[in-house]
Formats: sequence, structure tokens, C-alpha cells
Amino acid sequence: MKLLLHICCGPCAVYPVDTLQAGGIEVMGFFYRHNIHPYTECLKRQLTLEAWAGDIDLRVIIQPGYDLEGFIQRAAFREADRCAICYHDRLKATALLARRGKFDAFSSTLLYSKFQKHDRIRDIGEALGGQMGVPFYYEDFRKGWKAGITRSKQMGMYRQPYCGCIYSEKERYYKPA
Ligand code: SF4
Repeated sequence: MKLLLHICCGPCAVYPVDTLQAGGIEVMGFFYRHNIHPYTECLKRQLTLEAWAGDIDLRVIIQPGYDLEGFIQRAAFREADRCAICYHDRLKATALLARRGKFDAFSSTLLYSKFQKHDRIRDIGEALGGQMGVPFYYEDFRKGWKAGITRSKQMGMYRQPYCGCIYSEKERYYKPA
């Protein structure tokens, strides 16, 4: 099976890529950029992913452009539910690319994170898979949470301290007095 895997960042990709490849699945990565702010942070995560992918011969498509403005416009006035919008944007872009590239399925490293809304990601992925005619591959990669962290630390990968968007950066660092 040929699978297009949306990759949110290098450290989150280590366990899913290992597991999928061990299961005989041919994986190609797709790095989506619009939700990672600011731009210098996006580049840092991208370079981390590209260095690791180069080491393991993983092909990764890097999303062109950087539509921070579009992301903010879609989230505006819906900040509390922005993650569902963000999941949808990322998974839709992946599904479209998978269909165009004639992949057998698509999936996401978002299914690895203990901090994401796992069931929501699965629901959105499966709905998009139905609409696009490319199956969404579901696996609960959270079972490899610790193993992935250990491996990414051993490899000295940059591990980001917040999810991605500027809202999540504020939630991480802003402490009201
Ligand atoms: S917190 Fe993460 S998942 Fe939620 S909108 Fe921001 S980047 Fe997307």
C-alpha cells in the first residue's frame, strides 16, 4: 500500500513512520505549513523534518507558500473551535494530494499526539476520505508516545514547545497576573 502521511513535525513522525514501514506500507510525507507560526518556527520544524527524512530516505513533499493570513481569517471569531478547522484544512490538503498522486490512502501524525482531539481527527479524516474517494488510514499511534519521544531525543531533534499556531503559543507562555 502506498500511503501519503501528513506530518505535523519531525518528532511526531518518528513512531508512525517506523510503524507503518515495519508493516510493509510505502510512506511518503507531506509537511503542511500554514498553521505553524511564526514563520521562523515553521522553518525550524521544516528543517528538522527534512534532516531526519534525509537520514532515513523518506520522501517528503513540502507545502508551497505560507498562508498565515488565511489561517487567521478562518479561525477568527471561532478561536475556541479552531483546532477542528485546522485539522480539516490539513487533512483536506493531504487527501487532495493523495488523490492527485494516486495514493491508496492518506493519514496523519496528528493521530500520534496525546494533546490533540484524537476522535475528532479520525472523524474528519474518515469524512474527507469518503468525499475524496481516498481512504483515510486510521491507527492509534498514541501507543508509541513514549517510544517516539525517546527516539527523537536520542537523535537530538528539535522538539517544539507548543502546537503550532500563534494562539497555542500564547496558551503556552502567557500567564495572566
Ligand atoms: S492549537 Fe494546534 S491544532 Fe489547534 S489550531 Fe493551533 S496549530 Fe491547529
